[in-house]
Amino acid sequence: MKTDLLIIGSGPAGLQAAIHASRKKIKVVVAGKVGNSSLKRAKVENYCCGELLSEGWELLEKGCMQSQNFGVIFKKEDIVKIEDKKNGFFYIELESGENFEAKAIIIATGVTKNTLNVKGENKYHGKGVSYCVECDAGFFKNKKVAVVGNGSAAAMGAILMEAYAKEVILIYKQLDISEKLKQRLDASSIVQVSSQWVKEIKGDEEKMTSCLLIDDKSIEVDGLFIERGAKSAVELFSALSVELDKETYSYIAANKKQETNVAGIFAAGDICGPPFQLAKAVGEGCVAGIFASDYVKSKEF
Ligand SMILES: Cc1cc2nc3c(=O)[nH]c(=O)nc-3n(C[C@H](O)[C@H](O)[C@H](O)COP(=O)(O)OP(=O)(O)OC[C@H]3O[C@@H](n4cnc5c(N)ncnc54)[C@H](O)[C@@H]3O)c2cc1C
Repeated sequence: MKTDLLIIGSGPAGLQAAIHASRKKIKVVVAGKVGNSSLKRAKVENYCCGELLSEGWELLEKGCMQSQNFGVIFKKEDIVKIEDKKNGFFYIELESGENFEAKAIIIATGVTKNTLNVKGENKYHGKGVSYCVECDAGFFKNKKVAVVGNGSAAAMGAILMEAYAKEVILIYKQLDISEKLKQRLDASSIVQVSSQWVKEIKGDEEKMTSCLLIDDKSIEVDGLFIERGAKSAVELFSALSVELDKETYSYIAANKKQETNVAGIFAAGDICGPPFQLAKAVGEGCVAGIFASDYVKSKEF
């Protein structure tokens, strides 16, 4: 099937891009599983004009309905292959083997958080266990929390958490952070537990209550932030020579029009780097949708 614009990812960035692009009367296809969006399990209280506390899955449902009303076609499958332009069209293959040719692409695949893979992690996700300090810090006001991780995401997360929680404990095997960040950490009230790691998360039916460490010591906490940095799906796009950000080489580099270095490929949302926030994803999706449709209309195919 041929389309003007293929949007990879049906999270808030992809959906907002679809809404803006489809209103410019071009053919838009969105690929991806809505259920895999980071927003699906979020309870959001910092999104302008949403409810005081919006359910992430409700926002996603509304976004899909809105896009469908503007004629957007949904393919609820993952993209498994993308090839460079042939005759001006990118070639894209879905997991079912179905393929598309698109004049332009918007990458809005979000990021996959690195998990701990320990007992209790899935059970208490959303019941004390979180992967995003920026998102969930407000739920732990005056509570005792732990942050686990060896890198800057964990150290920065613990420092941010200090402004909310009664007590913050940073658990790491060995810190791999800059000297400046280490100094900030040492000057803070954060309790550092080094040469340790979480091997199990325990709790009752309602919520987590403690972390079991590798030396079998138990730490009682109300919450655990797993901050092991973010792994993004950039591998899929490396074949197209899409450039990554020069600082971490983990995210796709895009300019103010959300254009990447490859003509016809745009990117929006978490895949472009932190802060991982709904408002940013939607804003970048809007910009990408507008400029991708302008690109399609300005070229002879
Ligand atoms: C628990 C939690 C709580 C949060 N709370 C808040 C909050 O309170 N406030 C806030 O502002 N933000 C919050 N966030 C962050 C927010 O959800 C994200 O910033 C936002 O969802 C990013 O949108 P996105 O569209 O870039 O990526 P996502 O929403 O992650 O969507 C990515 C989409 O890409 C698709 N995809 C991935 N790979 C492929 C592929 N190969 N082919 C096709 N599709 C693919 C996925 O299926 C998914 O549909 C929270 C996140 C989490 C995890």
